[in-house]
Amino acid sequence: MRKPAINRRLFLKAAGAAGLAAIPAVVGGYSLLRTAQGELPPVGSPYVDAADLERFNALASAPLLLVLPEQSANPHRAYLAEILRAEGLNAFHARTTAETDWSALDRYPVIVLAEGAFSREQADRLGAYVQQGGRLVAMRPGPDLDAVCGLEPAGGVTADGYMAGDPSAAGLGLPAAALQFHGEADRRRLAGAEPVAWLAAADGARSPYPAVTRHRFGQGQAVAWTFDLARSVVLTRQGNPAWANQERDGRAGVRANDAFVDWIDLDKIALPQADEQMRLFSRLIAAALSDALPLPRLWYFPAGADSLLIATGDAHDATVAAIEDVLARVENYGGRLSVYYAPSLNDDLRRALKRARGLVGDLPGVGETLRGSRPAPADIRRWLARGHEFGLHPYVEDGLEPGWARYWQEFTGLGYGPVSPTVRTHRILWNGWSETARVQASHGLRMNLDFYHYGTAFQKPDGAWVHGHFTGSGLSMRFVDEQGRLLNIYQVLTQLVDEHLMKMPWGGGWPDYSVDQALEVSRVMLARCAEGGYSALCAQFHIDPFALGGEWQARFGRWLEGTLAEAAQRGFPIWSAYQWMRFVETRQAAVFDQLLWDAAAGQLTFTLDAPAAADLVLEVLLPAQAGARTLETVAVDNQTTPTRPRTVSGLEWAALPVTAGRRAVVARYR
Ligand SMILES: [Zn+2]
Repeated sequence: MRKPAINRRLFLKAAGAAGLAAIPAVVGGYSLLRTAQGELPPVGSPYVDAADLERFNALASAPLLLVLPEQSANPHRAYLAEILRAEGLNAFHARTTAETDWSALDRYPVIVLAEGAFSREQADRLGAYVQQGGRLVAMRPGPDLDAVCGLEPAGGVTADGYMAGDPSAAGLGLPAAALQFHGEADRRRLAGAEPVAWLAAADGARSPYPAVTRHRFGQGQAVAWTFDLARSVVLTRQGNPAWANQERDGRAGVRANDAFVDWIDLDKIALPQADEQMRLFSRLIAAALSDALPLPRLWYFPAGADSLLIATGDAHDATVAAIEDVLARVENYGGRLSVYYAPSLNDDLRRALKRARGLVGDLPGVGETLRGSRPAPADIRRWLARGHEFGLHPYVEDGLEPGWARYWQEFTGLGYGPVSPTVRTHRILWNGWSETARVQASHGLRMNLDFYHYGTAFQKPDGAWVHGHFTGSGLSMRFVDEQGRLLNIYQVLTQLVDEHLMKMPWGGGWPDYSVDQALEVSRVMLARCAEGGYSALCAQFHIDPFALGGEWQARFGRWLEGTLAEAAQRGFPIWSAYQWMRFVETRQAAVFDQLLWDAAAGQLTFTLDAPAAADLVLEVLLPAQAGARTLETVAVDNQTTPTRPRTVSGLEWAALPVTAGRRAVVARYR
């Protein structure tokens, strides 16, 4: 720790001048001075460690095997494991080709092949597996699997194109509009396979080359993707790596959204394009298993919720009164807020005096003059007790590491710590392709909200403004770096941004919407969430206009409350980012263990093993049909538990609420 820049005598003199000298903690001023210096951020590994997949690989048996080839030019092939978990298929073994027991493939009802090289012998084994009734899902399968997949080479590739559903596959839930993919697709022709989707033009006009196919082969089935879904999802979510650190949207400061200018097709932004493709992936697995195994999965959101609103508010040196104003309004709609707070920077003496004022503020009958108008540690404790989050909003104009060090020190020195594990950076400045995520993860941050719908790049040439998911996603998944290393921090897109939609005291508001127009954007986005674009929609409600009062407070208060009312009316939980992070991490760690389907008796049994959390209720989706049988009753820990119907991608499910923990489930079909 640094030596304090001032001594106890000077501090007591200053405290006396501020009228604080009578407080015992101030009299013991030297220790206060020490504490008020704050801490530096911890530094640890930013990467997800091997133990993360151990929960899955340790399962005695699993319905899915993910095979990861050692040889591959694609660094993001292993992201398929993240896609399986995002889709709630939390019951798989992930094995390299060397770890795979090639003589016992038939233990798995479904095998998913990541992109890469398989030997002739391995391809033959996979062919025999499908021949005998296995179900294969392959990313960019090589020529050795052509016969199994019912494809033949056409030569060449299509890069960064579109895919459009085949009319015969309409029941699989793909949107009617063509969807973007990123990376390369192999040009293939059908040679027995049935088309699910085609490589296409932006307007949906089909090329002769399929994007996704299904093929009956022997007793089994092979699904093929001619591009790698994993790489496409990564590039769609995180932008073009070749454009990292480039200023591309014409607004000073490199932000995460700069890597999406001319990457996201603005005509497609309303759709969560990457999520729709992940849903097709899991839908095809469910379809392949339909007469063999009613495979349960986890819904994306807390039990009963079609979607969710994450409420956040950046706050720049905001007062207690302004923060209280916003928190109270959010609470009126049953919600909780993440406040991302940027304190003004102080030298050690001024920070120590602020600390002393905070202590005074805890005493009865002390007015604001003495106590100060800015948050004291006791204010923050009260807000946390009410379920809100109080996180850091660092300035990184002078560099990522120096910015984090300086703001961490200020935040903790003011007694605002421990630093909350979710964050939005001031001005959402972004370094590298994933560098900001790496640095934040190394400091123990676990959720990032810097991908932010903001600026003039979201206006089309015809003048129209677009709103939606520029990362192609309303779901929170972990960042990955250029080498394919998974970072221990989740990405949350902020789709609804007050300072983008409406003029702020500091500018912004390029579309220059009225409150009613901005509210219409909220309504349309929330409606899409309920109509198949399932999302954790994140909104930015700056605290600052509420500190200004008058017209600013009135305008932004109306937009805040109108947006909250719309979400509440749709039954969407309104959560802080911290609450959402806890849910996402718990769901991510959950596994379906001891999964057993007794086809003769029509009984499905499994244990859902999730980290225990009494306040988090996961939703398990059980197929409503298992072959000719229909789901009749479900028991959780021997208690009969009602389900409610949920239709996803044209398939009927029974939605079962399960409190996070280790729960035994028995489902009876007849
Ligand atoms: Zn800011």
